[in-house]
Amino acid sequence: MKSNRPPHPATLAAQGLGWTDAQTGAVVLPIQPATTYIRDPDNQYRRGRNYARADNPGYDQPEALLTALEGGAASLLLSSGMAAATTVFRALPVGAHIVGPKIMYHSLRRWIAGYAADGHIAADFVDMSSLDALRAAVQPGRTKLIWAETPANPLWSITDIAGAAEIAHKAGALLAVDSTTASPVLTRPIELGADIVMHSATKYLNGHSDVIAGTLTGARDDEFWQKLVAGRSSGGAILGNMETYLLMRGMRTLFLRVERACASARRVAEAMVRHPRIEEVLYPGLPTHPGRDVAARQMTGGFGGMLSIRVKGGEQAAIATAARVEVWKRATSLGGVESLMEHRASIEGPGTPVPSDLLRLSVGIEDSQDLIDDLDRALSG
Ligand SMILES: *Cc1c(COP(=O)(O)O)cnc(C)c1O
Repeated sequence: MKSNRPPHPATLAAQGLGWTDAQTGAVVLPIQPATTYIRDPDNQYRRGRNYARADNPGYDQPEALLTALEGGAASLLLSSGMAAATTVFRALPVGAHIVGPKIMYHSLRRWIAGYAADGHIAADFVDMSSLDALRAAVQPGRTKLIWAETPANPLWSITDIAGAAEIAHKAGALLAVDSTTASPVLTRPIELGADIVMHSATKYLNGHSDVIAGTLTGARDDEFWQKLVAGRSSGGAILGNMETYLLMRGMRTLFLRVERACASARRVAEAMVRHPRIEEVLYPGLPTHPGRDVAARQMTGGFGGMLSIRVKGGEQAAIATAARVEVWKRATSLGGVESLMEHRASIEGPGTPVPSDLLRLSVGIEDSQDLIDDLDRALSG
């Protein structure tokens, strides 16, 4: 029986959209290191590229794949997640008001606060797990951007994307979503009304802890999107050729890795809920998590590979637990094939809203029982 159903995103990712090298038939596209392109004798650039800061052919496949996975109109690869995010803020008019979450990726929060302190924009940070709090912070006509992150570092708070989009659009603002921890496997923010999706591709999209990269995807190829395109080519935050190749290679196994991480994270979370040395487990898939219902509505196929635990006995007990793990690796970052554990308050520094007894766990693709046993051993001392 012939079906007209379009291929599942997992198929598109595994095959890199099925692109092959026209010259050789190779199933992997070659790396093109050239920085410059030949001009036609009549002074035109008919093949469409002139200089690699603006046009890199290696970007075409990963950008087209990401656009398909996110259900957007266009995508951009950038040199890091931070470059991707800051390109959006730099594209706003001077004096624009933005609303961001109180709990979010801390380096970006710090950057936004500094950018606002320098007078470029005005910024308010609210509890974005509450649409009422968001609605109260938005200033119709003056607010140009709502920045959301869901599930948000490191409490895994959930923002209702459809609700936030409605609030943004009513006020004449755009909604941008940092979807790094969900990945396009679990959430498609554009389908829920978001205008821009950002990823730290350093995390799940690449997945092997060997590339720093960022992405943006636009719901429409409009005037604001073209400002972001120009922001990359003129701002210069482009991704290198080797990193682009590795990212494309990583994206082919995205679904396999995320599905495995989700299943294991759920097992780890459920095992830890009953652990006598644990105060609280923060995971959006647990019935006790305040964002559980919204997450169940807007995430498909799982609640992510990230969770946090609060260790009984406070900061010293948490740090001591992290010191005793062997299978888990003590390191920052997330979304790689290896499981990582981090005492989050230590890296965020003074003034962090993160509880001092919290350990952030990024679940990789190892055997989940190995992870549970190692954590149990470390907690029990
Ligand atoms: C890592 C991360 C970023 C920053 O990305 P880089 O690639 O490290 O610049 C932004 N948001 C989230 C949620 C992240 O985890």
